[in-house]
Amino acid sequence: MSIQTNLKNIEATIPNHVTLVAVSKTKPVEDLQEAYEAGIRDFGENKIQEMCDKFEVLPKDIRWHMIGHVQTNKVKYMASFVHLIHGVDSLKLLKEINKQAEKNNRVIDVLLQQFIADEETKFGFDEAEIRQVMKDEIQALPNVRVVGLMGMATFTEDENQIREEFKTLKSNFDYLKNNYSTIATLSMGMSGDYEVAIEEGSTMVRIGSSIFGHRNYNV
Ligand SMILES: *Cc1c(COP(=O)(O)O)cnc(C)c1O
Repeated sequence: MSIQTNLKNIEATIPNHVTLVAVSKTKPVEDLQEAYEAGIRDFGENKIQEMCDKFEVLPKDIRWHMIGHVQTNKVKYMASFVHLIHGVDSLKLLKEINKQAEKNNRVIDVLLQQFIADEETKFGFDEAEIRQVMKDEIQALPNVRVVGLMGMATFTEDENQIREEFKTLKSNFDYLKNNYSTIATLSMGMSGDYEVAIEEGSTMVRIGSSIFGHRNYNV
């Protein structure tokens, strides 16, 4: 099926208050162009170099989302244009984003990544660390604005487990939203679990393979 048809089918299942981020990592510029022509303006990439290369050649009204793990020394390459950094998982990274944002005379929006999965490989803060960062660190970082949370559920067929993990994230999101006026975005849900994520309160879904087809990492 074509990218346009896939998008139409997915958009029909996403309510208006939920933002669709089209995850285009590994995909050629032509595929992004096709999604752009179908109306998509939010694109997600997980490698900074690849995102910068695509930014150079694609229309400037695209909102670029960095959804991958970010190495501190590469923040500078995207600081002038990135729209939202989803995977902020350390204070060191937060400080570097603040520094690079200041150099570019802007405020960069970020999501703190909360570890919710039953897997050792996924990055993120735990709930207590996030609350501590919000309480004790954010005020000293005027060029970053924490606008919400991001999380990834365990890669499993067990829908109940995925649902419980999303509920955990939503509960911390609600706590923060009640305490900090900047908090508005809950980024959770991918191709395999976005419908559960929306039921559990997601406001932003990151969908790749259901739009662009399976990724081939060997090319
Ligand atoms: C690749 C990726 C996605 C999209 O995954 P699909 O299963 O292809 O929809 C979403 N979020 C993150 C953080 C990713 O790395």
